[in-house]
Amino acid sequence: MTVHRDIAVIGAGPSGLSAARTLAAAGRDVVVIDKGRGPGGRLSTRRGPEGVRLDHGCQFITLKQAQSTALVQDLMDSGVIARWDPQSGKDSVKKPFAEPDWPIGVPTMSAVPKWFAKGLDIQCGARIESIRADGGAWQLLGSDGIVASATQLVVAIPSPQAIDLLAPIQPDFLDDMHKATYDPNWTLLVSDAAHENPAPFEVMTPDSGPLGWIANQASKPQRPSQSAWIAQATSEWTREHLERPAEEVATLLFQSLQELVGGGLVGTPTAHRWRYALVSQAVGQPCLVDSARKLVACGDWCLGPTVGHAIDSGLAAAEAILKTDS
Ligand SMILES: Cc1cc2nc3c(=O)[nH]c(=O)nc-3n(C[C@H](O)[C@H](O)[C@H](O)COP(=O)(O)OP(=O)(O)OC[C@H]3O[C@@H](n4cnc5c(N)ncnc54)[C@H](O)[C@@H]3O)c2cc1C
Repeated sequence: MTVHRDIAVIGAGPSGLSAARTLAAAGRDVVVIDKGRGPGGRLSTRRGPEGVRLDHGCQFITLKQAQSTALVQDLMDSGVIARWDPQSGKDSVKKPFAEPDWPIGVPTMSAVPKWFAKGLDIQCGARIESIRADGGAWQLLGSDGIVASATQLVVAIPSPQAIDLLAPIQPDFLDDMHKATYDPNWTLLVSDAAHENPAPFEVMTPDSGPLGWIANQASKPQRPSQSAWIAQATSEWTREHLERPAEEVATLLFQSLQELVGGGLVGTPTAHRWRYALVSQAVGQPCLVDSARKLVACGDWCLGPTVGHAIDSGLAAAEAILKTDS
């Protein structure tokens, strides 16, 4: 039988985790549900074919506002993040927000969501396919029936997916959600456990061709020295090739990467498609609230394209709930 909870959060990415962490710290009974194998969303790490771990989503944690800066200081004090100061293969790499170096999770990006998740009740591997309101409670349904039931619901997933879930219940903020848009991203992962990295550069943002960002994974703090590369296609190239099989995309992007590093890379290339990668147009509000129905939506799409925006949106969602209830 499903236990009724105070608050259910759908999505264990940075926004859902920061909301849940704040609500749990305020003494609320919270459950977080995620369809993935672990928490993190796009702030994540995956094993390549040879077991080498690669940060295939977020590359460095971009900050924006004061609240998330304080949180990152906590993460730094806990030893979960370190500063990465890569040498650019071109002068065109612009470091955001005048930061001298970039915060990244150590030993992998997924250390960050794991830190957020500590002490939280998180149920992974559960995709919520529909939600329904039933006598003052929200019921979250997966393919095998009810996954969770709660008085208050936080939906912390990319806006196109949130719209699919929420459209049938018509929250009063549904029109605002449609204002947000995303760019997709094809990401190439290449690793070779048997060789050291040839390392002609640490990061590069090519001016032309299919690739827009290349990172030499071994140049990050606390990573093994094995050859491991992440290369992201530009949003234009990704849109053009969005529905192509991953194997074909991997072959094409690997050719481009070989040219840019001067050849010599070995290892099995794989490609990961992020259909909703980076926010191209945000709603411009910290979170969206339907207080009469005890429903809040949050995520990077509310404020902008970075982890900092997502964290700030999650914090705003938690504040909105705590304020309404006080
Ligand atoms: C390739 C790439 C590069 C990036 N680079 C950077 C960068 O360098 N710096 C930076 O700051 N940001 C970067 N980002 C963006 C950053 O990762 C996101 O802004 C951030 O992860 C958004 O957090 P979120 O919680 O809003 O959503 P997500 O991280 O997407 O989390 C949403 C969670 O909801 C879950 N979910 C979705 N639907 C359901 C459902 N129906 N049922 C259950 N669970 C569901 C998903 O599994 C996921 O775990 C990058 C993203 C990508 C993809």
